[in-house]
Amino acid sequence: MAITLDWLGVATFRLMVDDLVIFLDAYMDRVPAAPPVGLTTSQVERADYLLVGHSHYDHLWGAERIARNTGAVVIGSHETVRLMENEEVAVKQLVAVAGGERIRLSEGVVVRVFPSQHSCIWAQGPTAPDEACFGDLGLFLDERQANLSRRAAARSSANNPAMAAVAEHLRQSNQRPRGEGGAFAYLIETPYGSILWKDTSGHWTGILRDLRPDVALLAAAGRGNIDGEPIQGTLAQFVAREADLLRPRRIIPCHHDNWMPPTTRQTDLSPVREELARRAPHVELLEMGYMESYPILPLR
Ligand SMILES: [Zn+2]
Repeated sequence: MAITLDWLGVATFRLMVDDLVIFLDAYMDRVPAAPPVGLTTSQVERADYLLVGHSHYDHLWGAERIARNTGAVVIGSHETVRLMENEEVAVKQLVAVAGGERIRLSEGVVVRVFPSQHSCIWAQGPTAPDEACFGDLGLFLDERQANLSRRAAARSSANNPAMAAVAEHLRQSNQRPRGEGGAFAYLIETPYGSILWKDTSGHWTGILRDLRPDVALLAAAGRGNIDGEPIQGTLAQFVAREADLLRPRRIIPCHHDNWMPPTTRQTDLSPVREELARRAPHVELLEMGYMESYPILPLR
């Protein structure tokens, strides 16, 4: 008996703790041009819980189908719960959290919910993990929102035929969240050890520090958010900083795959590996493929 982990693309994972099935996010049904992850939401036959990191479509979309098909309980922000209720998931299957909760998932498995931060999608972002980005500090909310609107307008006016499939996908998957609805870090405590999962590159330093999970599943994409401001440096430095705060034995990266071509591409994580070797040499970086049923705990 142990814990096995399947990566299902972006920041979605299936965690099996003995016979308890926990989905972390639920986004598996992607644009046709994205490499398939080996499982679609309609093929999911068993799920006990769905933990949702935040309400953007590339994390939440699909949770409604899995919840309706399996009866799984969805744990997420009040915004996530509102969207799932709109999708006619039964209210008794919805648990709204705000950070600070401890929830018993089974006899031996407890999940703790912590407030977190979304990556700075409104700031200039890197095209590779070793590209340093600077600036965008101290912006007011309306300035951040103006940046986002400008980018959305530029995207929709771009005349790229490959974007038609993306536009159709965005139309289908749009559950109309208010922003990201708040982002969370989840710490899953089991008899075999603990797992920290975070589905976007952001954190509160004072919250992440000293959680000390055995394994950390960390988003490695975009412009990292440290305590509400964009990192002044690289994504590799951001991941190394999280490794230093958490001190896990093993990090499993996510969100770095080519999940929505042509707007994304496969990210080479060598700079992250090199930065970790310098800054946190005791941490192992384990890059998983999709659906590998990897035995992650207990650590051997
Ligand atoms: Zn997001």
